[in-house]
Amino acid sequence: MGERTIIPLIDQRTAGLPIPGATATPAPGSDLSDTRGRPLRDLRISVTDRCNFRCTYCMPKEVFDNQYAYLPHAALLSFEEITRLARLFIGHGVRKIRLTGGEPLLRKNIEGLIEQLAGLRTPDGQPLDITLTTNGSLLARKARALAAAGLRRVTVSLDSLDDAVFQKMNDVGFPVREVLAGIEAAQAAGLAPIKVNMVVKRGTNAHEIVPMARHFRGSGIALRFIEFMDVGATNGWRMDEVLPSADVIRRLRDEFALVPLAHSARGETAERWGYAGPDGRHDAALGEIGVISSVTKPFCGDCNRARLSTEGRLYLCLFAANGYDLRQLLRGGASDDAIGSAIGAIWGQRADRYSELRASGRVDPHTGERRIEMSYIGG
Ligand code: SAM
Ligand code: SF4
Ligand code: SF4
Repeated sequence: MGERTIIPLIDQRTAGLPIPGATATPAPGSDLSDTRGRPLRDLRISVTDRCNFRCTYCMPKEVFDNQYAYLPHAALLSFEEITRLARLFIGHGVRKIRLTGGEPLLRKNIEGLIEQLAGLRTPDGQPLDITLTTNGSLLARKARALAAAGLRRVTVSLDSLDDAVFQKMNDVGFPVREVLAGIEAAQAAGLAPIKVNMVVKRGTNAHEIVPMARHFRGSGIALRFIEFMDVGATNGWRMDEVLPSADVIRRLRDEFALVPLAHSARGETAERWGYAGPDGRHDAALGEIGVISSVTKPFCGDCNRARLSTEGRLYLCLFAANGYDLRQLLRGGASDDAIGSAIGAIWGQRADRYSELRASGRVDPHTGERRIEMSYIGG
């Protein structure tokens, strides 16, 4: 454990923010923007708060032990409730849905939810961009069924190719080869493009940056290096364990020729770099990598992401302490119009920009209100 401090987890999930009144609320379908002019485009839905891994940066064993009180089944949104909310969010501009958790593939019959979400259409008749983030442990078994249900693509988390390092990080002794088998199964099932997320911790897996890049170069899989973030209150986050993305890029450029690539979309979290061919230009066959620099280079200015927790709380930021209880509206018999207006009103008053404030020293990650856990709200 070294010097890591574990803050005991008291249950803050009961705290719900009052839903703002529907006066002067933009009607569903109208162009919604928050107080900083940011639209709503990306909805991340957590489908379970449980996980079969205990990644030290996310669900440290000391906190998430067998005494930990996970949400009871009745508290979880049903697939019908999730799909209804997703439809209302689409009415306000959402075009991309990411299923997450906890480990989303642990949710029973997740394919059933994907099938329902895949049936939704944007106002101009387009299907949604549906993706899922998984630790990969169940992917070899589930990839075909997920693709058949309408999942388009998948992001798999993998922090090292070295079993000793990976097992220390997932803390349940899960082997690398099974995650790689999951990635292969996803490729074979036609889920594309596949991304692999690697959380980089200085002193833990930073020496795996170049081997991971070498492994995935030319595979059609985009590897993304994520700075270790101060999400939640239990992962013992310390700035000196963050390896800035600039250092990641420096290490990669010592080994490979890389050229910067344009952002693929507004609100895209990753800064992209392409492998260059002999002519010095991006060689698409070699692929690309990305860095996600939430700590050293915050991207709040473009943040168009809303997060729906497993039991129906709407959070406006990954680092929020409280969310808005949409389940209460769903189960209280509110109409689509009423829920749609509530979503509009909540987004309309959004001012969140935690990472910018942290980077400029205006909030201290070690004090203040206790933030929600990553395993509760998803990535
Ligand atoms: N269980 C799934 C997985 O691991 O892919 C989905 C949920 S997980 C919370 C989503 C993403 O958040 C993963 O890629 C994970 O590595 C990342 N993550 C979790 N805790 C993090 C932290 N403290 N800093 C940066 N990324 C983190
Ligand atoms: Fe589980 Fe994902 Fe968190 Fe790891 S990062 S403990 S796999 S939810
Ligand atoms: Fe968005 Fe909050 Fe992250 Fe800023 S800190 S990019 S507002 S989720």
